[in-house]
Amino acid sequence: MPVLVMKFGGTSVANLDRIKRAAKRVGVEVAKGYDVIVIVSAMSGKTNELVGWVNETSPLYDAREYDAIVSSGENVTAGLMALTLQEMDVPARSWQGWQVPVKTTSAHSAARIEEIPSDNIMAKFAAGDRVAVVAGFQGVSPEGRITTLGRGGSDTTAVAFAAAFEAERCDIYTDVDGVYTTDPRITDKARKLDKIAFEEMLELASLGAKVLQTRSVELAMRYKVKLRVLSSFEEQSDTAGTLVCAEEEIMESNVVSGIAYSRDEAKMTLVSVADRPGIAAAIFGPLSDAGVNVDMIIQNIAEDGRTDMTFSCPTDQVKRAEKAMEDAKASGEINYHDLIADTDVAKISAVGIGMRSQSGVAAKMFKTLSDEGVNIKVIATSEIKISVLVDRKYMELAVQALHDAFELEKAA
Ligand code: ADP
Ligand code: ASP
Ligand code: MG
Repeated sequence: MPVLVMKFGGTSVANLDRIKRAAKRVGVEVAKGYDVIVIVSAMSGKTNELVGWVNETSPLYDAREYDAIVSSGENVTAGLMALTLQEMDVPARSWQGWQVPVKTTSAHSAARIEEIPSDNIMAKFAAGDRVAVVAGFQGVSPEGRITTLGRGGSDTTAVAFAAAFEAERCDIYTDVDGVYTTDPRITDKARKLDKIAFEEMLELASLGAKVLQTRSVELAMRYKVKLRVLSSFEEQSDTAGTLVCAEEEIMESNVVSGIAYSRDEAKMTLVSVADRPGIAAAIFGPLSDAGVNVDMIIQNIAEDGRTDMTFSCPTDQVKRAEKAMEDAKASGEINYHDLIADTDVAKISAVGIGMRSQSGVAAKMFKTLSDEGVNIKVIATSEIKISVLVDRKYMELAVQALHDAFELEKAA
């Protein structure tokens, strides 16, 4: 029988009623003749609570124990979903990552899926199970320890299963009815897109639009998974939601197709480092070794042989970054007067494939922000995106102003 993957995010399984509602959706697809792989997240708020407990217990925690703890939320919903389906007379069984097994790297808290053998679940389908409910976000390392895939990782679990089982489609059920031109929570002018290109979705996701985890989009692009985002709160047709697809499948699109933002970015400035050959390597080597994901970098003009180096990294890596820099200073690899962490910033990005062929997007973005009195602290660009760091208090204003300036409420 054809296989369908259905993923339900945290708000879609937030309580027993919602799990029931999600199970009914699964029942509809089973009745159509699909064997269904359901991927579940933890109940909304659960993973944050678990992460909070880890940080309170041990700020520079052992990532293996972090994974043991934060993966547990999904185990509960997987079991509850299987029971709910059984109550509806749908033969269903829950699966934790290690039972499938979802084989990952041993990069704890940010593991990558390497392989998902399909035999165990296929054998159960052959024996009469109609649904395999898999705990999302988790896997098992070569050493046999539980791993997690990074926040939002259940999306990646879902796409990886769709690829491994050659599913007809991968449906991501969430609390919005598709991918919008920007987060609909920030402006009610946000417009739902019927289709979005993989490349654009990849940028939006990596720049903060958490509707899909970045890695899930990468996998869908590589394995040509038919990926759809839709609401778990509405009755759905086969064409509802947003289809994430190849660029060629989209006829018309705006130059800028979406605005993303991220609150989770911090600006770090090393004040007065020696301006000498090799200084960048001496700074960013240790940061990389410490697992800090540096995004934007600015090296200021040197004066008297010294310069300031500014970079951005996720807020939750600030402590690691500080420690890496203090260690590098203590060992004499680098020398600086001060390290200033500014966590009161936000990153705002405009994304669009149309930027490849049309100039003036950056100028318009900077003018719009300047008209609103928003100061830009750091800029980064690539072929299809422009990102700026601004004071966090201006984040919503900046998103709304850019959404208006690029007329995203109107279709192309
Ligand atoms: P889930 O728990 O189902 O995985 P998430 O909270 O991870 O859901 O992702 C859905 C949320 O993503 C939405 O509630 C919305 O606020 C946010 N979001 C951010 N940017 C966008 C966008 N461009 N389109 C749709 N949703 C977005
Ligand atoms: N529960 C995990 C998280 O909140 C994974 C997910 O929901 O995708 O990050
Ligand atoms: Mg999510």
